[in-house]
Amino acid sequence: MLSVRLPSYAENVDDRFEPLDIHVKRTEGVTITFADDFVAEFNLVALRLRCPCAECRSLRDRGEESWPRPGSPIPLEIATAEMHGAWGLSPTWNDGHTAGIYPFDALRNWADSEGTSPRG
Ligand SMILES: [Zn+2]
Repeated sequence: MLSVRLPSYAENVDDRFEPLDIHVKRTEGVTITFADDFVAEFNLVALRLRCPCAECRSLRDRGEESWPRPGSPIPLEIATAEMHGAWGLSPTWNDGHTAGIYPFDALRNWADSEGTSPRG
């Protein structure tokens, strides 16, 4: 388990999109608690398959999976993760891929649309 330190300058962000707490379980996924108490859990492979970097996007545009790629270590793991400014999470995957920055607003919208949070 890896805790990602949140920057103190995060402000003026809609509560829905403001992460209060981020837990990265290297072999399972990422859990984010947002400022409105919404808890979103993201599966590791699902996250990677949605990697927002240009390289992965172009693979998906060609109809290919962005993971696993030839030679990808399996199982997938997050080696480490950092905040990217106040707006995104930047994981480094165990195959060395680090280009994707996941904006919190996109993660939250994804979670809202898939109902990954325990309700109530
Ligand atoms: Zn990528």
